[in-house]
Amino acid sequence: MKRIYCDNAASTPLDKDILNKMNDIVDRAIGNPSSIHKFGQESKAILERARLSACKSLGCNRSELIFTSCGTESNNIALLGILKPGDHLITSTYEHPAVLKVANILEKKGVEVSYIKPQYSGKICTADIEKEIRPHTKLISIMFVNNEIGTINPINEISEMSHSKNIIFHTDAVQYIGKEEINLKETKIDLLSLSAHKFYGPKGVGALFIRDGIDLHPTYIGGSQENNLSPGTENIIGIYGLSLALEMSLTTAKERKQVTAKNESTFIDTLKKLNLNFNINGEDRLPGILNLTFMDILSTDLVMGLDMSGYAISGGSACSSGITTAPNTLIEIGLNEDLAKKTVRISFGKDITKNNIINLAKSISTIIRDTNE
Ligand code: PLP
Repeated sequence: MKRIYCDNAASTPLDKDILNKMNDIVDRAIGNPSSIHKFGQESKAILERARLSACKSLGCNRSELIFTSCGTESNNIALLGILKPGDHLITSTYEHPAVLKVANILEKKGVEVSYIKPQYSGKICTADIEKEIRPHTKLISIMFVNNEIGTINPINEISEMSHSKNIIFHTDAVQYIGKEEINLKETKIDLLSLSAHKFYGPKGVGALFIRDGIDLHPTYIGGSQENNLSPGTENIIGIYGLSLALEMSLTTAKERKQVTAKNESTFIDTLKKLNLNFNINGEDRLPGILNLTFMDILSTDLVMGLDMSGYAISGGSACSSGITTAPNTLIEIGLNEDLAKKTVRISFGKDITKNNIINLAKSISTIIRDTNE
């Protein structure tokens, strides 16, 4: 059975051309980039060329990008590097755990935290943030695109508002970068997290944009790599892969977005033709994350049924020890537990075909029919 992957929001496959190019540099990435001998300097040259290329793709200075091991690490370094007891943080209730759990821990250590609820549309409202601002508000951290429902937050508006009030602004852009063009110079974003495995780069490598002039105190202690913020020997080949993936995805972003949007509407039209009872959650979505509630089946049954038919999608709910829990994002936008447990996330990637999409819709229809017989 040919397996069809529709869970690209969880992770994308490593692009074959990028993999080949990564393989090509293996013999030139032997040394530790901190070593002064020829081998070390060869690695250092690859590292700094990759930084230059990534910064060009993102529209920032070379001094403004550090490499990390993943989006989670980037978020941790940003929040923990800015906030001290007595400071105030504004974030949202539907952030990824790499922000939300850090905020919870900081709260226990004396940082005051305001949690903004998304609207039913799935978006965070700038005015809701503004109302929470206090004299000691140090940081606002709002995700660019929500990983469950794909809604795009008004990040330019929020970052401009933060800037006008001298508050540092961080965005977890792990689900955004690689899908849309960006020029960081033209924004008021101070800190931005990204992760290579969300845009056809290798897993285990990420980056954090830190605008010149923003000072972070180190979270990890060790060597002085990556401005003392991500100490440890850099993942040279992975970082090279990240820079290639950024270049590839940003040059093709516009075209890919259109193709993905077309694929999603083909899928929705097919579901409608099959008379399936479903809702799309979230407005103003970035094509690539489609969150659907199917009224007549639990997400766990649908995800397992599709897996047996060869399709990988993501359950809107996590199942542990036999207890099915509804995902936080869905509850936060106002879905009740019952609907949240009937919700799945489908994320089409660049290699999906029209046939795959139509057959996926047909399989969903068959599974729902069989489950209800
Ligand atoms: N932030 C968001 C919005 C995500 O979707 C993810 C991954 O799913 C992360 C952070 C964590 O990224 P990583 O897997 O690179 O640690």
